[in-house]
Amino acid sequence: MSLKVHPNISSLVPYSPGKPLDELERELGITNAIKLASNENPLGPSPKAQAVLTEGVATLNRYPDGGAHYLRRALAERWKVSADQLIVGNGSDEVISLLIKAFLAPGEEAVMADHTFVMYKLSVQGSHGVPVEVPLKDWRHDLSAMAAAVTDKTRLVFLCNPNNPTGTMVSMGEVDAFLAKLPGHVIVVFDEAYYEYVRSAEYPDSLQYVKQERPVVVLRTFSKIYGLAGLRVGYGITSPEIVDYVNRIRPPFNANSLAQLAALGALEDEEHVATSRSVNASEMAVLEAGLTKLGMGVIPSQANFLYFDTKQDGRQIFDGLLREGVIVRHIKGSMIRVTVGKPEENRRFLEALKVVLG
Ligand SMILES: *Cc1c(COP(=O)(O)O)cnc(C)c1O
Repeated sequence: MSLKVHPNISSLVPYSPGKPLDELERELGITNAIKLASNENPLGPSPKAQAVLTEGVATLNRYPDGGAHYLRRALAERWKVSADQLIVGNGSDEVISLLIKAFLAPGEEAVMADHTFVMYKLSVQGSHGVPVEVPLKDWRHDLSAMAAAVTDKTRLVFLCNPNNPTGTMVSMGEVDAFLAKLPGHVIVVFDEAYYEYVRSAEYPDSLQYVKQERPVVVLRTFSKIYGLAGLRVGYGITSPEIVDYVNRIRPPFNANSLAQLAALGALEDEEHVATSRSVNASEMAVLEAGLTKLGMGVIPSQANFLYFDTKQDGRQIFDGLLREGVIVRHIKGSMIRVTVGKPEENRRFLEALKVVLG
């Protein structure tokens, strides 16, 4: 073959999802491995979501509702916006790539942190846009530097709040000041995948910005606290105008029928969300204390994961944990990200880490 591949594509490093659990167990000759690597809800999907799925199976001969009518209506009610302010996607990952496709022409720029959710850079570069990466400051988005990085060519700014993988947050006051500096042509994307886990009173009410008719998009997902990562459903809340442009390039059946049904069920299950939030908060405290006791440098987190400094080769610690049957995420250098799991999983992780540290 003599393929002609653009360097924007050939230089990309594919997203690394890790191996399936049972494959890993086979390779390592172990059983009962635990996965604390993808920030999934350890308590499972909402029982209400599971119940509606059973009924939905009988209508799978039909195409999905391409407009996600009922889900958008329910979300509009929940967030006090109108249904034409909602974009539903095959995960919020897809909403990210649809926004890029709609608003970023080749050569145009998207500003983002240098240590954040990798899908922004992958998607931007994959669409021949230019990712402009701004270093974090004290593990947080440096909003002054990000505002200074905006040029005439900037079309999008990605603000991951809380940030993945650091778990850190920027406050409402900081975001207000940031938005005041931006030219009117720039769309700010607030990725709030961990919104429901946040405990800080300073967390921005980003829907206010949508209601003030500023050019912002708020992204939320059913993959995290709602426990539906496997079905792929996320959404964006923004202006009807932005929705209209995205709809022009959106594949018509992007969110599948079961995903839409389960999301509707999960949205009503406030008890599952409340339990998940409180288990996460108490277990986060256990993990934080345990990691600190083992000498790790832990960054306080507003999400459902902790990012910590092993102060040595993180890859070796990651490999050691794997051999103990515990899967975490090695991000770079000495840094590891661990998802808050069920109580017994977190204790096992801490014990395994103690063994690995020797
Ligand atoms: C997990 C995550 C998402 C969710 O992606 P989905 O496609 O909805 O599963 C989005 N943004 C960030 C920062 C995440 O960590």
